[in-house]
Amino acid sequence: MLTPSHNQQLIRQGMIEQALRQVDIEHEFSLVFQPVIDLRSRRTVAFEALARWSSPELGDVPPGQFIPIAERIGLINRLTAHLLGKALMIASHWPAHICLSFNLSTHDCASEKVARQIVDIIEVSNFDARRLDLEITETAIMQDVVQVQHTIDRFCQLGCGVALDDFGTGYSSLSQLLSLAFTKIKIDRTFVTGINKNPTSYKIVKSLVALSSDMQLECIIEGVETREELETLINLGCFFVQGYYFSRPIHHSHINNWLKEN
Ligand code: C2E
Ligand code: CA
Ligand code: CA
Repeated sequence: MLTPSHNQQLIRQGMIEQALRQVDIEHEFSLVFQPVIDLRSRRTVAFEALARWSSPELGDVPPGQFIPIAERIGLINRLTAHLLGKALMIASHWPAHICLSFNLSTHDCASEKVARQIVDIIEVSNFDARRLDLEITETAIMQDVVQVQHTIDRFCQLGCGVALDDFGTGYSSLSQLLSLAFTKIKIDRTFVTGINKNPTSYKIVKSLVALSSDMQLECIIEGVETREELETLINLGCFFVQGYYFSRPIHHSHINNWLKEN
């Protein structure tokens, strides 16, 4: 039986779907950028682009709500194409040592045709692909490992980095995951929240950091919110971090100032 809150959730999803079906991608979607910090130098080395949707009917809708629906109604590839082009254009104005990370959806890796479209966008952008990391979640890989492997190989041939996002949250086979040509892994924020109170989270992060080091994969820790979490991560030998402790995602017009001040 549907509970009232479940019912409300379904109504909300229906409204999001309806608004997405008539969305003006160009005008309603934008990007914000969250810095990635190298703890050795305390400097920003990259920004992760994160999508924002301001709907005239619904107001601001977070990506966790609209991405799954955009995937379901077949809008995601158009959205990715638009946002990736925009992110590359914005990043082309950054200093040459600053990299860009961009999130791909499951559906962006699911066919040769779509992968080709993404490769084309990167090629025409004139942005040095070696400064670009494409982030793919574990759930994306579980859909079709063979196709995703092809797609990752295509991106690597271009010179892009490919990061395994939300590492540790899925249920895929570790050996299968690590046989793919990832260059980085990102440890999900759920393990960082409470790392000092929850011994299991601490042990998971410790093991994942050791694993990434053994596999010679760069490791980025997401969701650092407090000084205490940061200190624990430094003691575990982490180098790259992201989180509200350093900065929330920012508008691109603030990036130059951020780089000057940090
Ligand atoms: P993600 O790729 O794991 O991105 C990190 C999310 O954590 C972002 O949420 C970011 O704003 C948030 N975050 C960063 N630092 C902290 C922190 O210290 N504390 C807390 N509580 N949160 C933090 P956001 O922007 O709402 O994005 C949610 C998810 O939506 C992303 O998770 C990603 O999977 C997806 N997403 C966002 N933008 C895009 C996009 O352009 N394309 C696709 N396909 N997915 C996107
Ligand atoms: Ca990400
Ligand atoms: Ca995450």
